[in-house]
Amino acid sequence: MVQKRGGWPTFSAYILGAHPNPANLQQLLTPPQGGRGAGGAGGGGAAPAAAAAPTSEKLADGVFRINGAYNALAIEFADHIVLFEPGPQNEARAQAIIAETKKVIPNKPIRFGVISHHHFDHTSGLPAVVAEGITIVTPEVNRDFLMTSLSAPRTLAPDSQSKSGKKPVIEGFKGDKRVFQDATRTLEVYVIKGLPHADGLVVGYLPKERILVYADMFNLPPANAPVPDPPVVGTMVFADNLDRLKLNVDRVMSVHSLNPDRLTTVAELRASLGRK
Ligand SMILES: [Zn+2]
Repeated sequence: MVQKRGGWPTFSAYILGAHPNPANLQQLLTPPQGGRGAGGAGGGGAAPAAAAAPTSEKLADGVFRINGAYNALAIEFADHIVLFEPGPQNEARAQAIIAETKKVIPNKPIRFGVISHHHFDHTSGLPAVVAEGITIVTPEVNRDFLMTSLSAPRTLAPDSQSKSGKKPVIEGFKGDKRVFQDATRTLEVYVIKGLPHADGLVVGYLPKERILVYADMFNLPPANAPVPDPPVVGTMVFADNLDRLKLNVDRVMSVHSLNPDRLTTVAELRASLGRK
């Protein structure tokens, strides 16, 4: 069985055997108690309740963490705003992120939305981002998939994008780096190399504020937890890329809310790998 999205395979299952009418058929057809239901993947949950009313937190002048199960970073420039992770989870969450961004940085358009990577839990709100007239920025490798997905007709139910009549505008940048810069601010976007989780996954870095924003590669372990053996591959790749890029980072912000939900440091990330 192969499932596709936007023409690309997203799920495949090989049926290795079949047992007709097993004795425990009723049990197999009964959902487990206390299940999380559909859409709970990605570590942060996708419950609709999480989309309601985000709060935000000022990290620096003109830099705000828009809080939720999936956090976004709003960055003010002289005459516009850039959002990192503008469309996670669903349309409602994206609309809430956009509304909160406009509240904390009033009277400027949100011109660019940089997505961390193409996975569904980080992109399912993008129709609302397109409807807002925001240019989606992502490495070139993701462009065709997003363009096809976001251009597909809505045949079952209209969404904010189809109602707006807007067409997706997607900048697929080439190379390993995309810099947003004006007289007031610099945001550097770097492609992470060698990551099994996804091709074309990026992090955002504010060199003046020394803030780094990322998705999926590091989950804060419980205090005093032993270093996992083998260590977490995504976190190793993340740390190796930070070594390669030689970024000067004080605070690290995760798109997925951590437990406890807070910013971390590169030292904590390295400590989770048993590195100094
Ligand atoms: Zn992912």
